[in-house]
Amino acid sequence: MTDAPPGSCPATFANEPHVDFSIQANRDAMRSAIERVRQKLGCHCPLVINGNPTETSNRIVSVIPYDFAVEVGTTASAEAAHADQAVEAARAAQRDWSRRPAAERAERLRRLADLMRKEFFELAAWEVFESAKPWREATADVCEAIDFCEYYAQEAQRLASCHGADVPGEENRFVYLPRGIAAVIAPWNFPLAILTGMTAAALATGNAAIMKPAEQSSVIASHLMRLGLEAGIPPGVLHYLPGRGEEVGAALVEHPHVHLIAFTGSRDVGLAIHARAAAVSGRSCKFVKKVIAEMGGKNAIVVDRDADLDEAVAGVVYSAFGFQGQKCSACSRVVVLEDVYDAFLHRLTEATRSLPVGPAEEPATIVSAVIDEEARNRILEYIAIGREEGREVLGVDVGDFAKRGYYVGPHIFADISPEARLAQEEIFGPVLAVLKASDLDEAFRIVNGVDYALTGGIYSRSPAHLDRARREIEVGNLYLNRGITGALVGRQPFGGFKLSGIGSKAGGQDYLLQYVLPKTITENTMRRGFAPPE
Ligand code: NAD
Repeated sequence: MTDAPPGSCPATFANEPHVDFSIQANRDAMRSAIERVRQKLGCHCPLVINGNPTETSNRIVSVIPYDFAVEVGTTASAEAAHADQAVEAARAAQRDWSRRPAAERAERLRRLADLMRKEFFELAAWEVFESAKPWREATADVCEAIDFCEYYAQEAQRLASCHGADVPGEENRFVYLPRGIAAVIAPWNFPLAILTGMTAAALATGNAAIMKPAEQSSVIASHLMRLGLEAGIPPGVLHYLPGRGEEVGAALVEHPHVHLIAFTGSRDVGLAIHARAAAVSGRSCKFVKKVIAEMGGKNAIVVDRDADLDEAVAGVVYSAFGFQGQKCSACSRVVVLEDVYDAFLHRLTEATRSLPVGPAEEPATIVSAVIDEEARNRILEYIAIGREEGREVLGVDVGDFAKRGYYVGPHIFADISPEARLAQEEIFGPVLAVLKASDLDEAFRIVNGVDYALTGGIYSRSPAHLDRARREIEVGNLYLNRGITGALVGRQPFGGFKLSGIGSKAGGQDYLLQYVLPKTITENTMRRGFAPPE
């Protein structure tokens, strides 16, 4: 089971091309989209239930993380009663949606992808403002959202094509039924892509989807709702319920008519949802709830003694500090063979020191503010822990930026022990732990010695060592001689195991199987005449 099959396996899905900002026209397009969206800041987004804008007594306020005096906008904040209304409407509409041909549902998702292409730079600009995503990251997120629509449209049609095993006198058909109603509970860090991915998967397979975006990225999510309706998704099968996780999120998880919870987020919340869904299954609801939970990581890159250090430094720096280290796939540990430890550490520190820090709307920015005050405080606590557990070799001072935004400069801690909190716990910020290993055995032991198994990688020029890495590094996504972030739909299906996830790969061939129920239909075709029609 562990051998990768020999020979080449050409890609069969064409990803949306990433934006080349060395082209002036692209830079201009992004700049003018940022200015257009700036004029729309301060907007308000109500809930959308059954196509109807719905106001609530409470609101969620979203501010620009790198300029927190400025409001991106507000959204209504859903409560349990709104979850009931959305589920009721979904129950009324889902059967019709499920009976439409898969090709028709796929066509709506392709239309949604086209609408995203039309508003491409504006959608990215909303991400710049609401999530502090630098240009390259923001546009890549929109590309990924488009990819998810196209890929799941394609895959749903593949699932709906004929599967059977006929023999003379007997016809056997194997079909997939939608599960019913999906609660889609998303994180803020890929604010359009992950929400779109889970939603498109549910819709493509004939389910209704109730979107519960993260509080921090609910304005961006409102654009997905708007475009979904414009693409012809029936109002009853797509709902937008921003609100507090503990309130509307929990209400959806426990709702007796929600069949599936598609969750991406932190480990604690994911595990709590898993337990809660199991507890109500068979009691208040008469089926077993399906939970898909994609959770955190504590990802490591090994730097072998014969690694190309230039490449290793570039790969580690971008994987660790791109988007402020707030990717589930981000590198937060680098395990370096002792022969090259000092040389690598020195170059890593200097390369990181030169990373441009600033507002995400500036084209040169690589490191901007983290998502909110709570995140900043948590990361600062880890930095204090790092000072006790290791040697601080870099702590970039963000200066006056800290007065206006939730900035944390890149930090590197060397000589961290594998058991240290800095080496074990997900920090979700621009903090990197460097660990020393005497040989590859020890390096792999360190890499695998955490609760998570999401992404990982190695820089090495030894084919034998790369082979060992293939077999021995326990992660869902393994990268050899490249950075460990930036998985592409269809090309690097994404997701982990251990405490990183209980689902199969987003953007992969078996992903949609989680959204359906298989059914086998067998007919005896040795007919003995037909009854006349009634
Ligand atoms: P989070 O767990 O705090 O929140 C995720 C979502 O869950 C939000 O919409 C939130 O409102 C909701 N929620 C919170 N409490 C809830 C409850 N009791 N019941 C129902 N819903 C509830 O995560 P986050 O801070 O938004 O995202 C960061 C985390 O997500 C990191 O741990 C990161 O590693 C992980 N992540 C994982 C992947 C992956 O593919 N494995 C991808 C992106 C992010």
